[in-house]
Amino acid sequence: AERWARAAAVLRELEEKCATPVEKLWEVADAMTKEMHAGLESEDVSKLKMIISYVDKLPTGDERGLFYALDLGGTNFRALRVQLGGREGRVVRQEAKEVSIPHDLMVGGSDELFDFIASALVEFVDSEGEGFHLHSGRQRELGFTFSFPVKQTSVASGTLIKWTKGFNIDGMVGEDVVSELNKALQRQGLDMKVAALVNDTVGTLAGGRYDDNDVVVAVILGTGTNAAYVERADAIKKWQGPLPGSGEIVINMEWGNFSSSHLPMTEYDNALDVESLNPGDQIYEKLISGMYLGEIVRRVLLRLAVQTALFGDTVPPQLETPFVLRTPVMSAMHHDTSADLKVVRAKLKEFLGISSTSLKARKVVVQICDIVAKRGARLAAAGIVGILKKLGRDGSGMRRTVIAMDGGLYEHYTVFRECLLAP
Ligand code: ADP
Repeated sequence: AERWARAAAVLRELEEKCATPVEKLWEVADAMTKEMHAGLESEDVSKLKMIISYVDKLPTGDERGLFYALDLGGTNFRALRVQLGGREGRVVRQEAKEVSIPHDLMVGGSDELFDFIASALVEFVDSEGEGFHLHSGRQRELGFTFSFPVKQTSVASGTLIKWTKGFNIDGMVGEDVVSELNKALQRQGLDMKVAALVNDTVGTLAGGRYDDNDVVVAVILGTGTNAAYVERADAIKKWQGPLPGSGEIVINMEWGNFSSSHLPMTEYDNALDVESLNPGDQIYEKLISGMYLGEIVRRVLLRLAVQTALFGDTVPPQLETPFVLRTPVMSAMHHDTSADLKVVRAKLKEFLGISSTSLKARKVVVQICDIVAKRGARLAAAGIVGILKKLGRDGSGMRRTVIAMDGGLYEHYTVFRECLLAP
């Protein structure tokens, strides 16, 4: 009984520290708006880099031709080709290939990573079949979606600012990622050129606009998190050089690096941050995104195992391994609707080596998932409100505003998604 009282106390404290009442969410939204202003004013004064993408036009829906794309930014990379048939034809044909990135390539050398990608691309191009037509005399062009912070220098060049999401490749920071890819394409003998370098949020914004003319914001919730939106060029004080004809430019916020004293941080979050590859950075991302949610839950479970013997008299050794509890597993447990929580039981066994658990303990696990996921979803929602405020589109009776959403967390974690949509 004493154990359960202690467990209940730990849970209660977690709940209190993770609480996101509406007033707090408004503070987070206001802080986001403020940081956006600061980041647009000058470089390096804000946690938000507010990167100018050089994308000053978005798709209209009239596009025609064969387009290739490569998406690198997390646990997988994707190659895609699409044949667009203009306003009437729309997407005539589309094919994609997804390859998971071996962990040693994420922390190895840059040539190894880019050669791996380029060789997968060679295979993909070789499989181009019927229904895809390149205009004669044209070289295949590639849109490169690279979802790490990049200092863009033109629409088709940019240097890496830092790695995030578990990537850590020596000697790449400050290098032009397009030239790294182009060199690898050449080494692999592929006659293809990178036409545009975009962040995945910018890509999501463009794809969203292709489908709906009212899309002005894009948010990614996957391994990491980020947002992009359409800004008036004259509102970007740090802009140097001629303003684009369209008068608008897409801003890649790099919002994962947002932080604010208003964010509800627990001791688990602080420890996770300190022990991470990038301490002090990406604080918002560490509260919200798929790379971290499961890890936060693991840390709480470890505390409960040690202090309250939640899983019996010995602490399950696997529970001490950072990142063993991945967010998809957390979400599977969270979504368990069986009366005896048999999914939770099976996952605890499979991933943490915990062979027997009480129903009460399994309920505690679900409750922790709930607290951690809902905090993340509500904070993400507050960030979106911050953007809408910056755009002056937060009131009622405003024009229709559509937000393009993407990412595995948003797509697959139903409780998270539903909480974000209707907090
Ligand atoms: P990227 O790695 O490029 O962000 P995705 O957008 O596909 O790729 O996101 C993958 C991430 O989404 C995973 O790392 C994981 O955190 C999260 N995710 C995938 N499936 C699920 C799931 N079933 N439940 C919760 N989160 C998931």
